[in-house]
Amino acid sequence: MTSPVDIIQRKRDGGEHSAVELAGFIRAFMDGEVADYQMSAWLMAALLQGLSLSETMALTDALLDSGKRLDLSPLGRRVVDKHSTGGVGDKVTMVVGPLVASCGAVFGKMSGRGLGHTGGTIDKLESIPGFRTTLSAEEFIGQLGETGICVAGQSADLAPADNRLYALRDVTATVESNPLIAASIISKKLAGGAGAVVLDVKVGKGSFFKNLGHAHGVAHLMREVGERRGLAVEAIMTSMEQPLGLAVGNALEVLEAVETLRGKGPSDLVEVVVALGTRLLVLSDPGWEAPQAEAAARRALADGPALAKFREWITVQGGDASFIDDPAALSVASTEIGIQAPSQGWIEAIDALAVGRAAVELGAGRQYKDGSIDHSVGVRLKLKQGDPVLPGQALASVYATDKSKGQRAAGMIQEAYRISGSRVEPAPVLLLE
Ligand code: URA
Repeated sequence: MTSPVDIIQRKRDGGEHSAVELAGFIRAFMDGEVADYQMSAWLMAALLQGLSLSETMALTDALLDSGKRLDLSPLGRRVVDKHSTGGVGDKVTMVVGPLVASCGAVFGKMSGRGLGHTGGTIDKLESIPGFRTTLSAEEFIGQLGETGICVAGQSADLAPADNRLYALRDVTATVESNPLIAASIISKKLAGGAGAVVLDVKVGKGSFFKNLGHAHGVAHLMREVGERRGLAVEAIMTSMEQPLGLAVGNALEVLEAVETLRGKGPSDLVEVVVALGTRLLVLSDPGWEAPQAEAAARRALADGPALAKFREWITVQGGDASFIDDPAALSVASTEIGIQAPSQGWIEAIDALAVGRAAVELGAGRQYKDGSIDHSVGVRLKLKQGDPVLPGQALASVYATDKSKGQRAAGMIQEAYRISGSRVEPAPVLLLE
């Protein structure tokens, strides 16, 4: 194998790696022959110099080949999956999964935990007593066959090299590279065995894609890489300038998912769910036409089948579903601190990043990998962008288990709201598709 120093040097100087060279480099890293500091240096070189499409393909293959690949072919169905690049208040998976399964699609997803200001679906689901997120491959496939939906934690033996690379990228400012992001996400999706994936690329303050151009570039690359390896990839781009929906925090978001499955969700969340659900149904077998898929998605939310499928899914995966009829069965922190508007006007903006950080301050998210979290804490927004507001009116509530953390988080939420003296139109949540 080419020495690690030669590989780092080649990329530092703008050269191109062969597929064999990159595969050997990743294998040597997993075998302990390339040190973390050498991989970190290469990651920075790759971020600054870029990777060609063939290098991105080779990296994707190398990450995929570092572990097992789930074989979902015994199901005899095309399994569809979704992936969000990470946002604040993003509880879409818990709604769209049962929605498309209730329409007959098979929805299987390996999901992550939250890190930093963004939440993770697995953390949210773990606020449900008894819900199992660690499943064997046999259990995952068996449940998909039985109920048409399964969401489990990312198995450690699927694309393990990505896990190690991501941990380094997270602490070396090397996350924001389109080729590294595409290889990371697509290798995990290929390892998870789905036949199609719809990406929800978040754009704005609460995302690491701050503008549409960047989001569009990464979506295009992920589609190219996925399709070259037989994975159908579609992408939508959605705004993460303000949090999605009203609830931020694990148990609070589960409760908002239930309200949305009852047909009473906040409009921005419903729009994202319907847009993703439509594309998932189009990509599922036997395949839908888009207009029928959208009508079916809206009906499933309004008429009850999506909620019935959610109940079945939670129960089959070991969870106590009583919170669906009795929200008090899900533990929410008892100290509520209200935040009031200082002036009259219209809500101009709610900084999603600041709200995400306030949730982390409360304990809803983790500051470092494998840290523990408090499922019961969070924030409930009462007003969103474009809403009129009077002085002293409630903007939001913070739910805390620790009063001083609650006070600090309340201050952060107060700062996150900007009020304008003139009318503000709410910005669309669905961006370029
Ligand atoms: N999410 C991932 O899984 N990988 C990345 O590189 C970025 C976001």
